Amino acid sequence: MCVFCEIIKGNIPSAKVYEDDDVLAILDISQVTFGHTLVMPKKHCANILEADEETVLKCAAVAKKLAKQIVENTKATGVNVLTNCGESAGQTVDHLHFHIIPRYDENDAITIKFNPSKEQDLGQVLKVVKGE
Ligand code: 5GP
Ligand code: ZN
Repeated sequence: MCVFCEIIKGNIPSAKVYEDDDVLAILDISQVTFGHTLVMPKKHCANILEADEETVLKCAAVAKKLAKQIVENTKATGVNVLTNCGESAGQTVDHLHFHIIPRYDENDAITIKFNPSKEQDLGQVLKVVKGE
């Protein structure tokens, strides 16, 4: 059973922020920050890597519009828009979704921080990334 498919079918209640024929946006039950919203396709696909491009683009377009709306209405000072893909990336629900996480100046329940890492040979990294 996919919890988001059950929400889309109306079998599990949700707080709907936006809906059209292909996309649903709901408040995240955990509200990591005030206004935390999830944008998902109505068609089940596991994640951004599995989804077809049209589905991703439809969700991204809605996420972009809603991010602007939510920042304006919540008076947030910033926003993170992200999708987790795979367990190692923190994905817990295997139905593609974009998080819209409004950010505020005071401390909130999320930290996104790029720590310094071991220096890499970018030429070598590029070869691997490009599959050469
Ligand atoms: P992930 O960790 O997969 O990127 O994000 C899944 C998100 O779905 C979590 O932030 C979690 O709080 C949210 N979530 C899980 N179950 C439900 C639910 O039944 N209703 C709502 N609104 N959100 C849910
Ligand atoms: Zn699903």
